[in-house]
Amino acid sequence: MNTAITELINKVPTGLLIGDQWKESSTGETFDVFNPATEEKLATIASATSQDATEALDAACHAAYKNKGWVETPARERAEILRRAYELVAERAEDFAQLMTLEMGKPLAEAHGEVKYGAEFLRWFSEETVRNYGRYVNTPEGTNRILTSRKPVGPCLLITPWNFPLAMATRKVAPAIAAGCTMILKPARLTPLTAQYFAQTMLDAGLPYGVLNVVPSASASAISAPLLADSRLRKVSFTGSTEVGKKLLEQASANVLRTSMELGGNAPFIVFDDADIDDAVNGAMGAKMRNMGQACTAANRFIVHESVAEEFTEKFTEKIRQMKVGNGMDEGVTCGPLIEKKAQEQMSEKVADAVAHGARIVVGGHAIDGAGYFFEPTVLANVPAEASVIREEIFGPIAPIMTFSDEYEAYRMANNTEYGLASYVYTKDYQRQLRAADHLEFGLVGWNAGVISNAAAPFGGVKHSGLGREGAAEGIDEYTYTQYIGVKDPYAL
Ligand code: NAD
Repeated sequence: MNTAITELINKVPTGLLIGDQWKESSTGETFDVFNPATEEKLATIASATSQDATEALDAACHAAYKNKGWVETPARERAEILRRAYELVAERAEDFAQLMTLEMGKPLAEAHGEVKYGAEFLRWFSEETVRNYGRYVNTPEGTNRILTSRKPVGPCLLITPWNFPLAMATRKVAPAIAAGCTMILKPARLTPLTAQYFAQTMLDAGLPYGVLNVVPSASASAISAPLLADSRLRKVSFTGSTEVGKKLLEQASANVLRTSMELGGNAPFIVFDDADIDDAVNGAMGAKMRNMGQACTAANRFIVHESVAEEFTEKFTEKIRQMKVGNGMDEGVTCGPLIEKKAQEQMSEKVADAVAHGARIVVGGHAIDGAGYFFEPTVLANVPAEASVIREEIFGPIAPIMTFSDEYEAYRMANNTEYGLASYVYTKDYQRQLRAADHLEFGLVGWNAGVISNAAAPFGGVKHSGLGREGAAEGIDEYTYTQYIGVKDPYAL
């Protein structure tokens, strides 16, 4: 590693953040973090145990409920901490971007995009903190007055994935702070450095000790199982795979916990015959290839009208050919490595499966030899519905194209999945856009837009893609409960 990178890594705390200190794990255990582009070791981080998890919950409860604790903090104070954090993240943008590229692999320009997006949750929720409104109304009979307020749910467990190491943390931490909750953040084992540096940034912004505790761990279930079984925990917010989300939902039922689940996707990208094809191709590049296809919103199935399929495939393939694969730290690279060896192997298996089902490789299709987990950006044509790339979340740079002839057939194909997160529709006909939104069973619909995530938008899925919404005004709701106070009406008999 060169000196600049060593200096950057040295800024990242390597301990567990519990209460007012960064500390070793209770057993002294650690785990290593690697660069997926070079396979070099970047850092060694303390690995939290179940005992550490319980201590983190002790700290979160103390910070919440002690005299003049976090739940009593005036909204303005919480808002200003979030605002300062937004400014600090923006000041440290280069550090955050480089850390993400190093531990996760995304091209540096995309990492900068994530810093902006991730920081925006801090700014957005700093503004929402003071608008956490209740109501005051009379009962229809005139017997009572109804007062409602929105109270913090209490200590939360926040579990985040590796693919957006900053934004997935800020999307949970910021609304939890806005609502007045304390929390335990468990970042992904593969990418803890960004979360560690972010936690230090929150402390630097003035967040009181114990409000945010961070417990990276080599064993995720060693952290989540004891916490979900502890009746002091009030909520779990999880972003990750549907498989793990379902397990957590089962465990969360024991204490009837509030849950937010941002799970996997299998996004259709529908191109109608009247679409602006160049525009659709640009949208497809963003929807498919951002983050090397490792996004829950990634276009997973291109469903293209048969009359424009050839033109779309040709133009899309041309753009894919222009992509530069390499280490995300290098100038001009637009496609970095996959997160780990297993992911690279899965891509080869998926391509082989598609070909066995009759698909044609238009471009790419192979793992790239040498250090790092690189895979060629790939376009597959004539892909049948039975192929695994159509049925399962791909999570890599493979774009399978299918064709349709009738508008309603496109909707049926799009909905033919257990997932329901993102969907994309390209058409110039606004009536068809509206019909598409009516027919698509997805939490997010992009109309002639390939990248739609925004801190001000309610993000979330239906079906096996999850429960709840993150971002927007809805984002705080996930961390509050409504308390109703009935007051006897002074004019009632
Ligand atoms: P993952 O489910 O393997 O891991 C997510 C997090 O859960 C990590 O912190 C991991 O350590 C932890 N975890 C793993 N097993 C656990 C267990 N048994 N108990 C408790 N925690 C456990 O997912 P991933 O590979 O990190 O992320 C990719 C997945 O995340 C994809 O399916 C993607 O679609 C999804 N995702 C969804 C959204 C969304 O907003 N809907 C956003 C990003 C990623």
